[in-house]
Amino acid sequence: MESTATLIARWVGEPPIWGFEPPRFSPIVDEQRILACERRKQTNGSELVLLTVPIRFPFKRYSTKTIRAVNDRGHWQELEILEKVPPGIEPFSPDRFKQLNTPLQAQKTWLGQILCPRCKVQFRISNRAQWNGIRHLLCGQALRIGQLEDQIMPIWCVVGNMIQKRQAGDKVWSGTKHFAPGTKLYCFPVIWGNGYQSIKVIGLGRRPRRWIEVVIQWRWLQNPHAQLIYKPAVIERLWDHWDGSSKSKGLAEQLVNQLHQMAQDKGEAPQKEK
Ligand SMILES: [Zn+2]
Repeated sequence: MESTATLIARWVGEPPIWGFEPPRFSPIVDEQRILACERRKQTNGSELVLLTVPIRFPFKRYSTKTIRAVNDRGHWQELEILEKVPPGIEPFSPDRFKQLNTPLQAQKTWLGQILCPRCKVQFRISNRAQWNGIRHLLCGQALRIGQLEDQIMPIWCVVGNMIQKRQAGDKVWSGTKHFAPGTKLYCFPVIWGNGYQSIKVIGLGRRPRRWIEVVIQWRWLQNPHAQLIYKPAVIERLWDHWDGSSKSKGLAEQLVNQLHQMAQDKGEAPQKEK
């Protein structure tokens, strides 16, 4: 077995939102050579990133002190490699490596979805930040991938219906130009920085009757709720953003609560039909 070392790094600036995404590393660092990375929150709120790398990992060639990773907001952020290992952090044990290097069986759906049996995170086989062909880079577990021809993993998402009557100026419209009233809409999570005022949704359009992506106002969405979706056409379009994990479920519920809160604050009730 190849010898490995654990590098301890610290985010320069605020750490990205905890737990939602693993850091993706700058191509310059050659992510294939990072065998595993793990984020550890410390009691003082700061965060350390433990990187497992082969002993002769060529950090020196680029910079000994920092590497770059893409944070949760999609921006490059620097990680500073610490000289000293802070107390309470033990490097990985040989046993742990043995475990990680013994492939676990995992299944791939026809969309390329995989659920990691070790860390229970769902990822896409084409995502090189998560999968290097041998192991899941988030937890470091080696996987043997089997194919599931006709299965698909459901995803959690926020769903609702297009409002029946929509007031615009002094006219009242039935639904929108794109969607008939009552059309079931599947929402993306927050994509821009305006809270959830504008929501990107997909749904079956009026004519031609096919799946379309449109941005709507939050108040046009009636009866918002979190739901586990099994429809392949929807999963195919949304699973970059949602998955079947409890984390996704939590996010969907949080956004639904936010929508109800916004309706209350504005004295409107999108969940009730007039
Ligand atoms: Zn994993």
